Amino acid sequence: IEESEKFRIEYWELEEAKLRRMPPPKPLAARVALVTGGGSGIGRATALRLAAEGACVVVADRDAGAAEKVAEELGGADRAVAVAVDVTSEEQVVAAVRAASLAFGGVDLVVNNAGISISKPLLETTVADWDLQHDIMARGSFLVSREAARVMIDQGLGGDIVYVASKNGVFAGPNNIAYGATKADQAHQVRLLAAELGEHGIRVNGVNPDGVVRGSGIFAGGWGAKRAAVYGVEEERLGEFYAQRTLLKREVLPEHVAAAVFALTGGDLGHTTGLHVPVDAGVAAAFLR
Ligand code: NAD
Repeated sequence: IEESEKFRIEYWELEEAKLRRMPPPKPLAARVALVTGGGSGIGRATALRLAAEGACVVVADRDAGAAEKVAEELGGADRAVAVAVDVTSEEQVVAAVRAASLAFGGVDLVVNNAGISISKPLLETTVADWDLQHDIMARGSFLVSREAARVMIDQGLGGDIVYVASKNGVFAGPNNIAYGATKADQAHQVRLLAAELGEHGIRVNGVNPDGVVRGSGIFAGGWGAKRAAVYGVEEERLGEFYAQRTLLKREVLPEHVAAAVFALTGGDLGHTTGLHVPVDAGVAAAFLR
């Protein structure tokens, strides 16, 4: 008993020493943020919000033209740069994180947002669908987190990693095996990395937007039309329809997801890690679909 008590005390002394070493989060105005999929939808809105709060932003997207356009919107080379990257490529992710460091002297905040949505019934989902979906979201965010964490640990100043996950990674619905499974993978990456990186002052959190966010490429690229057909409403009325089914009777838009990313990284939540914040006007709380 004495031995185990001694071990317990030594263990906690060690933990306390680590805590004392942990730096407080840097203010956003002193941070460099890298947003994957920053060329469109939620990623673009997040890049705009983080820049508005003073961060230097690296807009990373496989669509180089879209990334350039957003970087220009953010005020050009002093405040933002565009980096062309396919997050499924280890080589390109390594190069993108290096480019971010070269442009602004480091990386303090990363948003794993790049994504596509393949939502098909199980029997129509091909191995190619499964692989593509998982390559972009599970493998891509793993690679980006790993390379960003490498830089953050080296800098010794802590940092933030945020996953734009989804309600679909928590709750199940039909015709969503590939997308839902990869969002669940991302959700657990948040917890696993929070557990591993906490001692470096790196916080890892997620945001879970509702299943439909208009103003995004995913919505425009077919998701909206499919959902409209499922609910039997015209596509242009889907936003209103979705709002009505939420507890708050409000539609979730890209800027609302961006606001949650800001709250987690730039606000007063410095002691929060391993958390998923629903941005769904109450849909998950009441188990509404
Ligand atoms: P979007 O299509 O507007 O944006 C996605 C961006 O990711 C695009 O600019 C695209 O070029 C980029 N991208 C795709 N594959 C990439 C790759 N391999 N490498 C680099 N960039 C790549 O879609 P969005 O709705 O803004 O989606 C952003 C994130 O939000 C996704 O992870 C999505 O799953 C999640 N989400 C969206 C909704 C919604 O309803 N729109 C709901 C919940 C979660």
